[in-house]
Amino acid sequence: MLGPVILAASRSDQMRRFVSVAPGTKQVVDRFIAGETVEHVVPIVLDATDKGLEVTLDVVGEDITTREQACAARDAYLDLIAHLKDLGLGTKAEMSVKLSMFGQALEDGHELALANVRPVVEAAAAIGTTVTLDAEDHTTLDSMFAIHEELRKDFPQTGCVIQAYLFRTEADARRLAASGSRVRIVKGAYKEPASVAHQDKGEIDKAYVRIMKILMEGDGYPMIGSHDPRLIAIAQELARRAGRKLDEYEFQMLYGIRSDEHVRLAAEGHRMRVYTAYGTDWYGYFMRRLAEKPANLLFFGRSIITK
Ligand code: FAD
Repeated sequence: MLGPVILAASRSDQMRRFVSVAPGTKQVVDRFIAGETVEHVVPIVLDATDKGLEVTLDVVGEDITTREQACAARDAYLDLIAHLKDLGLGTKAEMSVKLSMFGQALEDGHELALANVRPVVEAAAAIGTTVTLDAEDHTTLDSMFAIHEELRKDFPQTGCVIQAYLFRTEADARRLAASGSRVRIVKGAYKEPASVAHQDKGEIDKAYVRIMKILMEGDGYPMIGSHDPRLIAIAQELARRAGRKLDEYEFQMLYGIRSDEHVRLAAEGHRMRVYTAYGTDWYGYFMRRLAEKPANLLFFGRSIITK
């Protein structure tokens, strides 16, 4: 019951102000956010790759309100790519982007987001890596998929994300699997109405399995974004049945969540990519992590009280 309340708070400026300055916040934020700057995140990337993990890097930020902020988001990713170039990690360090951070919700936002994300995708390709477009709330997805398709004309390795809780997603999965795309499947982290999304956890899990099956049997590259042990076991079985080798799909988990499992799956020979978020505009990302597991909220509440 708490999840939807926290998700509603994730869009409140008043809550943002309160949470951002509350004593004890930093301690909890640090569990999910790998640092504030690219200089903080580089050692974390190297530590992960030393352990046999791969990463996808997210400069946190979303729902920006000016064109200048959208350009600043593009520049932050270009700066990240300049740092990654020196590390020579290729696809072991890719990037995830939220198009709302690139201006998607502003006037002419579709064109603006495409214009801002294209140089990032080009620069990523120039250093031998790639970009995945995150999925945000359902109102943004037609634009996200159109941008994905446009980018794939020149950069076919560009990935995108689909969300199992949405009714539309099985059809999206079929289309993307047939086109040979890289696709991350996740349960979905936004507050969505019953008119467009399953509300029941069991229904979401069943949809997730149906969608994984479509992706595993298709021509693309499935990226299984989940910490759910049952879904991870089912993914392995579906991959085996579809005749996929260990390097023909991958698992993805979030930085700070089930870290032992990251290492265990990598040690079994799986490709395991850790979604590593960093930056200063962490509020929306952080609140979604609280919403996913109400116990996190308890921990957060305690750390505020004990400060
Ligand atoms: P759950 O049933 O929520 O969790 C399974 C178990 O994992 C829990 O019992 C718990 O032990 C652990 N766990 C899960 N979440 C947390 C947490 N926050 N804190 C502590 N423990 C936790 N969503 C989008 O809408 N768009 C995206 O683009 C997107 N990208 C993602 C990328 C990756 C790599 C991952 C892993 C998730 C992404 N998500 C995205 C979030 C996703 O939609 C889910 O909200 C999130 O993954 C929780 O679902 P779960 O599959 O882990 O299963």
